[in-house]
Amino acid sequence: MTIVIERLSLRRRPLLKVLMLVVWLGASAQVLWAEGNEHPTADLLSELIRIDTSNPPGNEDKIAEFLSSRLRPLGFEIQIVPTPAPGQSHLIARLKGDGTKKPVLIAAHADVVGVEREKWTVDPFSGIVRDGYVYGRGAIDFKGGLAVFTEAVMQLARNHVPLHRDVILLSEADEEGGPYNTTWLANSHWDLISCEFALNEGGWIMKNTAGQVQYVSVSTADKFSIPVVVTATGTSTHSSMPTPDNAIYALARALDRLSEYETPLELIPSTREFFQTLSKVSQPPLSKNLDILLNSKDPAQVREADRQVSENPLLHALMRNTLAPVLLKAGFRGNVIPGSAQATINVRLIPNTDFDGLLSHMRQVINDPHVEVSLASPDTPDGQRAVALLKLRSSLSPSTKDTVLYRALQPSAHSIWPDAPVTPYLFQAGTDAGAWRSRGVPVYGIYPYPITAGDLRRMHGNDERVSIHSLEQGTKLIYKMLVQVESE
Ligand SMILES: [Zn+2]
Repeated sequence: MTIVIERLSLRRRPLLKVLMLVVWLGASAQVLWAEGNEHPTADLLSELIRIDTSNPPGNEDKIAEFLSSRLRPLGFEIQIVPTPAPGQSHLIARLKGDGTKKPVLIAAHADVVGVEREKWTVDPFSGIVRDGYVYGRGAIDFKGGLAVFTEAVMQLARNHVPLHRDVILLSEADEEGGPYNTTWLANSHWDLISCEFALNEGGWIMKNTAGQVQYVSVSTADKFSIPVVVTATGTSTHSSMPTPDNAIYALARALDRLSEYETPLELIPSTREFFQTLSKVSQPPLSKNLDILLNSKDPAQVREADRQVSENPLLHALMRNTLAPVLLKAGFRGNVIPGSAQATINVRLIPNTDFDGLLSHMRQVINDPHVEVSLASPDTPDGQRAVALLKLRSSLSPSTKDTVLYRALQPSAHSIWPDAPVTPYLFQAGTDAGAWRSRGVPVYGIYPYPITAGDLRRMHGNDERVSIHSLEQGTKLIYKMLVQVESE
């Protein structure tokens, strides 16, 4: 049986807070309240979770106001940038350096995806703490990161760390969907977020089942998401006299063929480096299979290793472009055979991939003149975004590891987890890092808290949570990294 200990935030218990303050003041007149706070990052995360920013509609304004009230008294210059959408704003908080070097930016989105409330065992917007975990929507993605980044920069300010570079903390709107994300911000207010390099969400600090950190992966590139539409056409007629060219059957056959199709292996340099690291910290058969994927020239052996490694959906996704049917549209009433049927396939592309080549492969696999494969219509928001992304894709190459920021992550991570290697990584999903990467600014991604594969599955799912200990370690990591970046 699990013993459940619930701890409410100290900020919700003013009497206790006053009593503890009296005790601390008695012990040492120098101790500031913020430093006396036992778990400042966890408390901050609970407060962020209690501000419901499910997108749509987002309401990131409330986070911007809340964080401003914490940051302004510590000397941060605050700019809140409203978007054309009511309630949605970006917050830019700048801690000024001496101006001798270009700024470092750390960015976290303030919006979250919605919840299936009935499937949660706790209130997803209460920020409750149980068994050493903060629970709530966004605990992992990405209010946990926002709390870690904010606490780390507040520590820089409290400790009066000398800064060469401005440190810019960005709390973003509309990352989980919507037009006023960082691409909009970069297009309209680039001067506010221009920097030498940036940190964002992305790679993982993975824990094994024994609770040890296995590796720290820092994303240097993101896959990007393109909607592809498969449209089958046939005769539209009365359903009492079916004809063989039924569009729904044609679409079903096309999808069946796609389900049997596997896109080819594509190991880009960051994936190769990640696999080398993973191979060193894993056991056979995974370590052996990764070795084969990296080094073998025998196609049959590589195919078998690919099949086994691909049983892990994350590793499968890192090695190739992926296809996932996500939406179906066909028919409008019970006695009419529709003239067309459509499926949307969410394609996740590795940067610099031959997208047109992939479309022609899909056409060959489907092999039916009555089925079209095309990019989503540019009349839809998804289609417009896809066209814009495809235009940018040659500039979305992986970020170089040769920067002060990437180099600073290694010793900072090693000081906390001495045995865990740091490796670059291709992030299997998308982030809003493209706003900087497309302008030639290196961006690195990390979810700054050690996590298990089990907890990772709660992201965008139910009972999302992050451990208080992980939040503390993550805050140390980011603080140390920033101190190092500023010292060089
Ligand atoms: Zn996210």
